[in-house]
Amino acid sequence: MNKKKLGILGGGQLGMFMCQAAKRNNIHTIVFSNTKDFSAKNFCDSYFVAGFDNKKILKEFIESSDFITIETENIPKHILKEIESKKKLFPSSFIIEVSQNRLKEKKFLNSIDGVSTVKYKKIVNFDDLKESLKSFNNKAILKSCEMGYDGKGQFLISNKNIDEFRGMSFKNFILEEKINFEKEISVIACRTKKKIITYPPVENLHKESILRETTYPAAINKNLEEMAIFIAKKIATKLELEGILAIEMFVMKDNSILVNEIAPRPHNSGHWTLDYCKFSQFDNLLMAIFNSSVESPMPIMNCKMVNVIGKEYKKKNDYIQNYKFYDYYKDEIKELRKMGHYTFKC
Ligand code: ADP
Ligand code: MG
Repeated sequence: MNKKKLGILGGGQLGMFMCQAAKRNNIHTIVFSNTKDFSAKNFCDSYFVAGFDNKKILKEFIESSDFITIETENIPKHILKEIESKKKLFPSSFIIEVSQNRLKEKKFLNSIDGVSTVKYKKIVNFDDLKESLKSFNNKAILKSCEMGYDGKGQFLISNKNIDEFRGMSFKNFILEEKINFEKEISVIACRTKKKIITYPPVENLHKESILRETTYPAAINKNLEEMAIFIAKKIATKLELEGILAIEMFVMKDNSILVNEIAPRPHNSGHWTLDYCKFSQFDNLLMAIFNSSVESPMPIMNCKMVNVIGKEYKKKNDYIQNYKFYDYYKDEIKELRKMGHYTFKC
């Protein structure tokens, strides 16, 4: 029998882990990467390298896949639509479009009963920025609505530095109130038309807006745990998710939860599931796509996942000796670039 074929848009570390999981499940992978050297290169069965808007390559990619998924949400809308007109895309282009624009995403999240985000305002000029900053107690984060990741396209704004932004062109920006959260957590949901499962909430530590460490389980009380799972299921259901969705949340001092953002793909804070769950986030994504089913993750033991960032990669041999280390095979070390991660029980 012919192997089932999965097309993956993007070839970074998430794509690489998808390919590895696919191999274990006898699924053929075809990666479409817009960079020449990419993490998934040595793990996929075949690949295309071109700009995503290369019509000829896009057509070949679509034709060679049974189903298609993404490992980055930053893919132009018309390309998602083109794919979806020919093959089933996991998750849908609607979900990807909501999550690739912070304004759309915040409007959508706040429209769900029982779900809220931080206060935010759309910014179109410097006067807007000034006024909004005042209403947010003079501490806020300016974020580009699209294409940001790992804190890219974000600026902390206060009275002290606001004048530096006077000459800027404010196309597609929002300002968010800078909040003092107690903790950051995330929940990953996998859903088909028939069933939804969630991975338990994990605790995330960020430095310079980039994820450093994830701990399973999050040190939160039972009520908060249930609330986080309830919110995640509510969002996934409202989106009619088929596939996987990560939901990043802030736990506030008063024990309320605000949703930070959603990501319609496997998530860095779910990498612990590769070693410490019976079914990893990648296994469940593949089951959702090819079997229309998802399985309860069945965590095995308490653990931590630590990202290896920039020059830390030079200590790779230490990590290999002491932990379970995953190399992302990046072409070069860059400051604040995720180069790999390691996990250990705790
Ligand atoms: P990215 O798409 O880069 O992950 P996020 O919006 O998740 O962007 O921001 C990255 C990190 O910055 C968050 O995980 C959190 O630590 C911090 N952060 C983001 N927004 C706020 C906010 N409104 N108040 C306080 N901290 C924030
Ligand atoms: Mg984030």
